[in-house]
Amino acid sequence: MGVGVLFSFALERSEVKQISGVVLTIDDGYIDHWHKYLDYFDKHNVKLTMYITTYHMLKDSSKLKLKEFQKRGHEVGFHTRNHIHLRQFLKENSVENYLKQEIDPGLEELKRDGFNIENFAYPYGENSNEVDIELVKRFNSIRKLKWTSEDRKLKDADVFYSLPVETKILYGAGIDLAYKVGDEELTEALEKAATEKKILFLYCHRLDESGEPWTTSFNRIKQIVEFCEKNKVKMLTVRKFLTLGK
Ligand SMILES: [Zn+2]
Repeated sequence: MGVGVLFSFALERSEVKQISGVVLTIDDGYIDHWHKYLDYFDKHNVKLTMYITTYHMLKDSSKLKLKEFQKRGHEVGFHTRNHIHLRQFLKENSVENYLKQEIDPGLEELKRDGFNIENFAYPYGENSNEVDIELVKRFNSIRKLKWTSEDRKLKDADVFYSLPVETKILYGAGIDLAYKVGDEELTEALEKAATEKKILFLYCHRLDESGEPWTTSFNRIKQIVEFCEKNKVKMLTVRKFLTLGK
């Protein structure tokens, strides 16, 4: 490839229009908790992605709610069939066993019921390069985790993206109570997305007011939604995020 070709490619890339966005994903599938707020999300033009696990154990009523979630423009992604610990499993089993037990049958169950599954998230953030190789054949993206702490605040975590996204491995940061991300820290990260025209990738679990570690309160969701509305930051599904700028 000549220098001229490289140069024109670089020019093309710089012409991609960058946007400010938030990809908010929900792990595990607390569909009953999130379904209550569907009208609120519609009203504020919020699109979410729910990575579903143990689909075969959901009540029929929850499956219908999940259908409606998809019908209203949210995305359903996959989060394995049984939510087991990958590292422990691979000590005693092969990658092929993992695919046979945790990936392919569960994916098939969701597809058979009309869910359009394109993206994947690992449970517990446990991942393996050998499994990645197989997963990228089945999914458009694989989500892993970046941990935040006292020393690495959310705005400094590697969870901000420019367009177009050229990788299939994505990283998100958690905003449940367990992650101890304060309201101000969250606002700082949202401000970075807004001012630097980046897309911030976040995840959470249950939406309720119990104060338990793996929950996010409605107030926190409202904080994100209101910030995004006020600052023209788009709330996007993973699918939409991956197609932007291409
Ligand atoms: Zn999970």
